[in-house]
Parts: sequence; structure tokens; C-alpha cells
Amino acid sequence: MSKDVDIVADGANSIEQHIDRYLIRVFDHQGIDETWRKELLTFNQVLEKTLRVRLSDGKIHHFVAFRVRHRNPYPTGTYPYGGGVRFDAGVNLFQMRGLAKGMTLKAAVVDVPHGGAKGGVALDHAQYTAADIQVIAEKYIEEFNGNIGPQLDRLAPDMGTNERIMGIFANKYSTLNQGKVTNPSAAISGKPVARGSDGCRGRIPATALGGHYVVEELRNLKEIRGGSLTVAVQGFGNAGSHFIRFAADFGMTIVAVSHTPGGVYNDKGLSYVELQKTYSAEGDLTLHRPGVKISNEDLLTLPCDLLVLAAREHQMTADLASRTRARTILELANDPTLPEAGAILRDRNILVVPYILASGGGLIVSYYEWRSNMRNKVLTEKAVFEGLRRRMHRNTDAVVAASEQFNADSLEFAAYNLAVERLLHPIMGKHLGQWKTDEADPDYLFE
Ligand code: NAD
Repeated sequence: MSKDVDIVADGANSIEQHIDRYLIRVFDHQGIDETWRKELLTFNQVLEKTLRVRLSDGKIHHFVAFRVRHRNPYPTGTYPYGGGVRFDAGVNLFQMRGLAKGMTLKAAVVDVPHGGAKGGVALDHAQYTAADIQVIAEKYIEEFNGNIGPQLDRLAPDMGTNERIMGIFANKYSTLNQGKVTNPSAAISGKPVARGSDGCRGRIPATALGGHYVVEELRNLKEIRGGSLTVAVQGFGNAGSHFIRFAADFGMTIVAVSHTPGGVYNDKGLSYVELQKTYSAEGDLTLHRPGVKISNEDLLTLPCDLLVLAAREHQMTADLASRTRARTILELANDPTLPEAGAILRDRNILVVPYILASGGGLIVSYYEWRSNMRNKVLTEKAVFEGLRRRMHRNTDAVVAASEQFNADSLEFAAYNLAVERLLHPIMGKHLGQWKTDEADPDYLFE
């Protein structure tokens, strides 16, 4: 097998196992029987294909690619599945299945009426030119074309994909489906705003800003206490860098940040603009000054009020959980805390804000983009941020209320209980449980 198609087995501690273990705990807790359990433990569709492309070196390359649809509680043809596409060396089947399940739960917790899906291509994108990435992205759409659509499955950005790639996806999808699909743009979210204005303003910082709104509401509810918060951020990509960008507006001082090469610490505070300058000039934040070079492990164990995990899955291990000195952990990345680490953090009374709530901002604004494209309307950035803020506040309140309702020992268990209640109780006939989505975002947003 060439390195392009190497699959890393991820069985033992996979995202899917973490989710399934939690779901089973919740099913037992809520007395849900076997039939309904299967609704969330199984998949609608798991697709694996090999993308075969000729790249700029003149050679044929093979890349393993996936699109997994987990569950959509809405009737076919009304609301689509939705979820990101990853271009990353770590992409594999187990990861895709876990991330798709996570999307279904996230959509339920942040009240977005889309099913959960995930896709990806196993590749180290640093090794390919922009032109090669375009060829691979177009091939991805060609291979999965029949499974994508505005009312079938909507793609979004994730690790290694950005608005440029979303623009390439959208162009390719529109070209392949011209005259056959109405509103083809709605099949892809996270598109550039400049591209005929069919992208959505505010989509790029939405995940980070959504995380801020969750923390803001947890502070309103006194679940998080303290005046100005000191913050360490792992990850300086889309989620992490934009979290830092808005930190001062939410009464936070960034004292440390890290990315793949390592990090930098400065107890006097780090500025987003200055960090960006170092990143653009050097590509390595460990060289940022004034500040002290630190390792990723140092960052995860620094004393701070808030530790933001915005890099990738499985970063908080049991060992680090027993040594971390953060008071609260915000999960912006998908599944960054291993289950055994979660148990240690719970015992140590460290509040963990789970990703199925905290990182839902991108999904919410992808949904706004889908709605705008379906109606041929445009949203202002102000309307997007206001809608995002209200949704995050309302659903943070719902998770905190679920803690009490389900006697939960963590916000994670509360959020899982809320998701299962919203996904399964209506189809089980337990209560009507209509989601109030359209009321939450009245049409004035679209004027
Ligand atoms: P990205 O590719 O833009 O950035 C990832 C960042 O993490 C980079 O700075 C990288 O250097 C750093 N990183 C990777 N491995 C690391 C490690 N071991 N230690 C320290 N830093 C490391 O990705 P992103 O879009 O910001 O996504 C980050 C996480 O957030 C992922 O788990 C993703 O699934 C999740 N997420 C992203 C979005 C979104 O809208 N982009 C939405 C929801 C969830």
C-alpha cells in the first residue's frame, strides 16, 4: 500500500466507542429499549471509495475517501444530513463513523434540524500543491455526487479544508448538477462570501464565536466564576485562532497558545494580531516574542482559568487530566478528551464543556447558509452573530437544565441525555417534542 492509502486502525479508543459507551449509559439511564437504541448505534450509510487522480508530478495517486451518514430524524427530502469533510492524514473509517455520530448528537444539542454526517480524504495536505488539492477535491465531489444534495447531504469545512476548498466543491457540484438540482449551492456550506455572495457572512469564525457564547452563558448562570479569565488555547487553526481573536471582547486574557510545532506562554497576555504576524512570517508560534517557548504538554498542564482544546481528538489523556491545572475545559475540537481522562477531570471537579455543545457554532451557521441558499436570501454578519448567540445561550441553558433533570454528574452526560431525548423521544411517542428551530431564527434574520 502506498502512503496515500495507509489506514491507521483506531479501534480501541475510537471516537465511535467513546460515543457508544456514553449512549449506552444514557439508554440505561432513560430506560430506552433495544429497538430505539439501534436508531443511534447504527448507520444510514457508510461509503468508502478510492480517489484515483493524476497529480502535478505526472503520476497517478490513490486516496482513500469516505462519506458516512449516521442518522437523520427528519423525513427524507425535507432536511438533509450535514457534516464536515476532513483532508487529514489521520482520516480513517473508525474516525469517520465516530465523527458522523458526533454530528447527529451535536445537531440535536444545538437544535439544528439536520442529520449527522462526516466525510474525509486520508492525505497529508502539506505535501500537495494547491493545484493538486483542487484536483483531489473535484474528484471527491465526482465520486460522491449521487450522495450529496441540498435535501440529501450537505458538506461543510473541517480540519484541512477551508472556504477555498468549499468553493471548489460548490463549483464542481453545481457543474455536475446544472438543470437537475434546484439551489445546488445549498449542498455545500462554508463557501467564500465573495463568490457571488452565496457563502454566509460569519461562517469562518462561527465555531470559535459559538464557544465564546457558551462560556458567556455559563458565566451568566454562575457555572463558571471569576472576573477576567486567563486562557490557554491548543490549536491555532480555524477554531483556535478565531477564539483568540474574540477573547478580549469576552473578558479573557490569552496566556498561552500552541499548535503542531509547540507553543508560547506569556502571563502578560498574547495579542491575536501579533500572533498572526509571527504565524505568517515564521509558520511557527514557538518563535513568538515576547513569550516563552513551551511544549504542547506544558500548555495542557499550565495554571489557567480556561483551557480551550481546539486542535484534534484525544489530546487530553488520563495522565494529563491528573496534572492539568485549568479550572474549566472548553472542547472546541471534536472528542479531544479521552473517556478515562473525562472521569479523572470529573473527580477533580474540573468543569468540561462538551464538544457536542461547545463546538456547534459552525454547524449552526452552516445551517443558516443552507437556509439562505434555499431561499436565495442573504444574511448580514450582525444577524448571523445574533442568531448564533441566542441559539448558543438557549441550548446552554437546556444542557444545564438537563444536568438537573437527568441527575447528571457532568455537562457531557447532561448533553448526551438532552440529545437522546430530542432525537428519540418524539419517534418513541413519548412526547411530541417539536424543535422550535424556526421560531428561534425568525424571518427577520433574512430581510
Ligand atoms: P485546522 O486544521 O484549521 O487547525 C488545527 C490546528 O490544530 C492547527 O493549528 C494545528 O497545528 C493544531 N494541531 C494539530 N494537532 C496538534 C497537536 N497534537 N497539538 C497541538 N496542536 C495541534 O482545524 P480546525 O478547523 O480549527 O478544527 C480543529 C478541531 O475543531 C477539529 O477537531 C475539528 O473537527 C473541530 N471543529 C472544527 C469546526 C470548523 O468549523 N472548522 C467546527 C467544529 C469542530
